[in-house]
Amino acid sequence: MSGCLLSIDQGTTSTRAILFDLMGNIRGVAQKELKLHYPHNGWVEQDAEDIWRDTQEVCRGALERSGVKASEALAIGITNQRETTVVWDRKTGRPLYNAIVWQDRRTADFCNSLKAHEDAVRRKTGLLLDPYFSATKIKWILDSVPDAREKARRGELAFGTIDSFLLWRLTGGKVHATDATNAARTLLFDVVRQDWDDDLLALFGVPRSMLPEVRDNSGLFGTTDVLGGATPVAGMAGDQQAALVGQACFRPGMVKSTYGTGCFALVNIGAAFRVSKNKMLTTVGYRLGGKVTYAIEGAIFAAGSAVQWLRDGLGIIKSAEESEALAQSVPDNGGVYMVPGFTGLGAPYWNPHARGAIVGLTRGSTAAHVVRAALEAQAYQTCDLLQAMADDAGHAIGELRVDGGMVRNSFVCQFLADMTMTPVLRPKVIETTALGAAYLAGLHVGVFSTPDDIQKNWQCERRFTPAMKEAGRERLYAGWSHAIRQILS
Ligand code: ADP
Repeated sequence: MSGCLLSIDQGTTSTRAILFDLMGNIRGVAQKELKLHYPHNGWVEQDAEDIWRDTQEVCRGALERSGVKASEALAIGITNQRETTVVWDRKTGRPLYNAIVWQDRRTADFCNSLKAHEDAVRRKTGLLLDPYFSATKIKWILDSVPDAREKARRGELAFGTIDSFLLWRLTGGKVHATDATNAARTLLFDVVRQDWDDDLLALFGVPRSMLPEVRDNSGLFGTTDVLGGATPVAGMAGDQQAALVGQACFRPGMVKSTYGTGCFALVNIGAAFRVSKNKMLTTVGYRLGGKVTYAIEGAIFAAGSAVQWLRDGLGIIKSAEESEALAQSVPDNGGVYMVPGFTGLGAPYWNPHARGAIVGLTRGSTAAHVVRAALEAQAYQTCDLLQAMADDAGHAIGELRVDGGMVRNSFVCQFLADMTMTPVLRPKVIETTALGAAYLAGLHVGVFSTPDDIQKNWQCERRFTPAMKEAGRERLYAGWSHAIRQILS
């Protein structure tokens, strides 16, 4: 078979389209930065019309840049920033309000008022009661936009996460659907029964008539003329789940960890739903042929953003790339540890009030030690996540497949292997999120017959083997634990 697969990767800070050949190699990329709006403290919004305009532009741009003809694009896959919420009018297709972004905290008080329900919610959704997820954002729009609740009652409104909104627009308003991984992030979806849940809908005051149909991650979602002809939209998944597919983590115990602005690690736990004992999230990893595979997810809020802070906040590096050589210019961290808790600490600590710190400074400490401490912190934090994930998964973690901008840094990858005592595998294509969406589309149009075919496409660019002696590792980890205790006290 010949041709290409087009992936739409709609992220928080940018919208991209990447054209892949059938071996998973990149043929063309187009990208547009996306503006975030902060109307009040803790509020984060985007203009859904910007997202739609950029999406059309980058799809055509990727095609033009690669020189590939529209007719060669066999299918489109969509992957997206998860949880971000759009409510639109079914008749006009126009959003009632800006997209409320996953980072938005405006519904924190409402979430706190529901804490008594948290265990019940967790057993159905695998999630925590937090403003992060879509449900309370939908309620806020219905309660705040004049006449919205009345219109919703009359069945005139539609809700969607970004995947669903884009699909609606791409199909000219013909299809209102989402996929199981995006549905799993709304707090409204029972991930065991794989259906919207009436008790949850009542709890959050969301009418069922607004909700999209929930489908497998691979299948015919609709056709679009965004490229000129009629191209099938055949794959869809939330960004972290798409990366799980892009990294071919199809067996229980397989882990992918993405180091971008933040870090998200997902472990495949197989077909049985399980609530985490360690305050991690349980989510749908992927759903293919009606069969659900679950994943446990852990998040570190600050990964690459710590490097950005070294560059823009402290000014001790000029570029992110420079951090690698600088960290390696000293033999060790000199006792310096950085806890990059700029916006609190995520899993497994979940402390929103914690703040960052650099500890262990002496008169001998240099910029190189601080940079090294920032990079090392990613590995210590990953250790904490992996311990919790292995416990929840009931499997030892055999290897760690990494991706995201930060893993270009080989010092980070090697230190990660040393501290986690786990081989770290860096794939040839680190754009695994977009690749995963393309793979899902390819599965439907027959480029791949089974996930095994995708696994065969996965190529390791470099394997980092644990090489540090146990005593050194324990000493370093003890230093990190001490730094964390100082922050939390
Ligand atoms: P996102 O998709 O979240 O925007 P990316 O996957 O594009 O993030 O990764 C960008 C992040 O990676 C930035 O925060 C940047 O500081 C960090 N980064 C990029 N290259 C390096 C490097 N060589 N060393 C360390 N960090 C890096």
